[in-house]
Amino acid sequence: MPIQLLPISLANQIAAGEVIERPASVVKELVENCLDAKATEITVDIEQGGRRRIRVRDNGAGIPKDELALALSRHATSKISSLADLEAIQSLGFRGEALASISSVSRLTLTAKTQQQEQAWQAWVEGRDMQAELAPATHPDGTTVDVQDLFFNTPARRKFLRTDKTEFNHIDEVLRRIALARFDVRFNLVHNGKSVRQYQAVHSPESYLQRVSQVCGKTFTDTAVALEQQAGPVHLWGWVAPAQSCRHQADVQYFYVNGRMMRDRLLGHAVRQAYADTLGDDRVPTFVLYLQLPAQDVDVNVHPAKHEVRFHQARQIHDFVLQAIRQALQSAAVSSSQTPAS
Ligand code: ADP
Ligand code: MG
Repeated sequence: MPIQLLPISLANQIAAGEVIERPASVVKELVENCLDAKATEITVDIEQGGRRRIRVRDNGAGIPKDELALALSRHATSKISSLADLEAIQSLGFRGEALASISSVSRLTLTAKTQQQEQAWQAWVEGRDMQAELAPATHPDGTTVDVQDLFFNTPARRKFLRTDKTEFNHIDEVLRRIALARFDVRFNLVHNGKSVRQYQAVHSPESYLQRVSQVCGKTFTDTAVALEQQAGPVHLWGWVAPAQSCRHQADVQYFYVNGRMMRDRLLGHAVRQAYADTLGDDRVPTFVLYLQLPAQDVDVNVHPAKHEVRFHQARQIHDFVLQAIRQALQSAAVSSSQTPAS
């Protein structure tokens, strides 16, 4: 075969392969877009575990009519415009790929209204060139992305979808992660027309524990030790369970770096080391932790799904996290041994 440019739709499907694994990946991308648009209320409305439909609505900034087509095309983003922006990223998105990717493997419509506009508009793409079509619509200020029949045109991917229940559970978990990242935003999850989760917005640190309890369970919040440490511009805070209250399953292990949930090896190692041999074989570290550091000290452009980061000062970050957790666990052990038995 001679060398030829791929049709746009095929190029986008290939890009989708990297990040859109299942309905939950769609939810993650769409909800992150809502947060980047400064939404304060986000509703995720799904049917059949998201396999049939995923609709995400927000009350954020919306998208101007003349940018709707661009929003659906690849490598188009409002979030960065230079390498310097990328190296000090403040937003969750920056790749400009999610909407283009998702619309190449589903039936997607994008509906939005900005405050300045009188009229809402809806956009969708068609054909090999993914040409955008536009029509007037009804919508309050904000954006709705409606994704139907995910993977209808990519049977290989569709085959890997599991039952509605399993796909629902993945979506539920994505929303938990995000709910723990943004206490100030209200989230709703609707499944098959029924409201199944509601995370109310909480605005003061004293109330954060309410949401943590809702997401992680009261058994965690009843025993968890609060932790807070600062070293120069690096700040770690959150909650860790003392060894004897750690869970048997790895279901409460949430580590955020600058607001992004991570599964990072370096951080995982630091946490495990902090517990060292105080944990029995049947328990795993149990924690909700937030690390804040200057955006330019961490590279998030490591993996397309952004699960991993690279710290410029990896060793220092590792040791700081290790010490902070170790100290919190030690002070918890001391205070519990001082409590008179009653
Ligand atoms: P990225 O988030 O990496 O920029 P996306 O494909 O996810 O790429 O989105 C493309 C663009 O569409 C965004 O940069 C943003 O300008 C716009 N956009 C997407 N979703 C929303 C939303 N919910 N509210 C406002 N703008 C949005
Ligand atoms: Mg995005």
